[in-house]
Amino acid sequence: MTSANRVLVLNSGSSSVKYQLLDMRDGSRLAVGLVERIGERVSRLVHTPAEGERRERTAPMAGHEAALKAVAAELAADGLGLDSPELAAIGHRVVHGGLRFTEPTVITDEVLAEVERLVPVAPLHNPANIVGIRTAWALRPDLPQVAVFDTAFHTTMPEHAARYAIDVETADAHRIRRYGFHGTSHAYVSRETARLLGKDPSEVNVIVLHLGNGASASAVAGGRCVDTSMGLTPLEGLVMGTRSGDVDPAVTFHLRRVAGMSVDEIDELLNKRSGLVGLCGDNDMREIRRRIDEGDERARLAFDIYVHRLKKYIGAYCAVLGRVDAVAFTAGVGENAAPVREAAMEGLEQLGLAVDPELNAVRSGEPRLISPAGSRVAVAVVPTDEELEIARQTYSLVNN
Ligand code: ADP
Repeated sequence: MTSANRVLVLNSGSSSVKYQLLDMRDGSRLAVGLVERIGERVSRLVHTPAEGERRERTAPMAGHEAALKAVAAELAADGLGLDSPELAAIGHRVVHGGLRFTEPTVITDEVLAEVERLVPVAPLHNPANIVGIRTAWALRPDLPQVAVFDTAFHTTMPEHAARYAIDVETADAHRIRRYGFHGTSHAYVSRETARLLGKDPSEVNVIVLHLGNGASASAVAGGRCVDTSMGLTPLEGLVMGTRSGDVDPAVTFHLRRVAGMSVDEIDELLNKRSGLVGLCGDNDMREIRRRIDEGDERARLAFDIYVHRLKKYIGAYCAVLGRVDAVAFTAGVGENAAPVREAAMEGLEQLGLAVDPELNAVRSGEPRLISPAGSRVAVAVVPTDEELEIARQTYSLVNN
């Protein structure tokens, strides 16, 4: 046992780093912040300590090393420096852990080499995560660095859910299968939903709908993921802010052969210029609702396509689970957009699903039920907290 009880959580993107320093005695935040536009002419750091004013700095930061040094300086100014004996570990969000990493893992050279081997299946995410880990490790080589993988929760998916129906040799040679993402959130929310119902996670079957800018659904049976909507990459599944979700794979051949687009252009189209933004020009659900209220037809159609896909996954996961105890909405859209929740549940009474309009309209940061009293299936809003989950997993690993 160590007396150090703080964990720094780092989420390193290609041009950004999000961070939170947590006190694990009560899960409270000592500081939260963000560095963005790393590598551009002017980078921006926003730092908010629990005790003190929000601070904003702009300076050129050529890479993650400069960004993390700037973060370390801000933390030190609040007496929370990386050299503090109170710091127990650094927990890193790592997007792709493949099949090997089913649990949070203390980082070693060998672990890092394996995360690097996964770059071909996660070219947009793992390289930035690796740079973040290397940089933090260089700053505190003596401190445990822990990787918490977005894919880990989904490694319990049975083969019949994880495999694509394509030639087995080709798939295996290139590690093509469904991995799923947002796992930290699905794990946290499915557990919190069981807690809201006063049950142990092993006793309940939950459909989790993580609807943020990225969006994914999962079917969780007795605490174990049995299916999820994202696949080899986060592109599959639900309609998202900028990603298409499911399309006929032949759309890509058509764009290549008939529209003459390059593979990179198609990748960019489906990941960045599709989904809600591709359908109506906006990916913020607040703006889409405002436009619908003004009678905007494109916004209405985008909303309807979004909800239709969501309903298809809810129906599919009712079938996958057989018995459903709860449906939980989470992340930016799921937690805040009452009209999405209402529309997604509309007409699903036969499946035991309904929302109470008054409960659905309540705004709160707390986990809550929104289904009518006596419903066969609980419908809930359960705010996600990926940073707390990463910190908890990190802390329990280094404290054992
Ligand atoms: P991510 O972590 O994937 O970037 P979030 O979970 O923060 O995304 O969700 C961001 C999205 O949540 C926004 O794009 C917006 O569509 C939606 N959102 C946030 N607040 C509200 C709100 N009050 N009403 C409706 N939608 C909201």
